[in-house]
Amino acid sequence: MSGIECPTCGSPSDAATEPLDSSATPREGDISICLYCRSASVFTGQGLDRRAPTDAELVEILSHPDVARYANAAQRVMRHARAGEN
Ligand SMILES: [Zn+2]
Repeated sequence: MSGIECPTCGSPSDAATEPLDSSATPREGDISICLYCRSASVFTGQGLDRRAPTDAELVEILSHPDVARYANAAQRVMRHARAGEN
C-alpha cells in the first residue's frame, strides 16, 4: 500500500500494529499514533487511511490512560531505529 501519510506530519505510513493484538486490522474509528510525530489520528475504515481527530475525539483520546504509554513506546522505538541508522 502506498500514498498513505500521517495527516499531521505527512510521514509515509505503510503499516500499523495493534499493541495488544498484532493480528488485528484497523477499523473505522480506531486510533493511530504516528511513530514519527506521536500525534493521534483516526482510521477512516479505508485500509490505513487516517484523518485528524475531531475536537471531541481528541479530548477522548487524551483522556485514555493507554495513549501516553503507547506514544512513549513509539518514541522509544523511533529513537532505537534512528540510532541503528548511524
Ligand atoms: Zn506524524
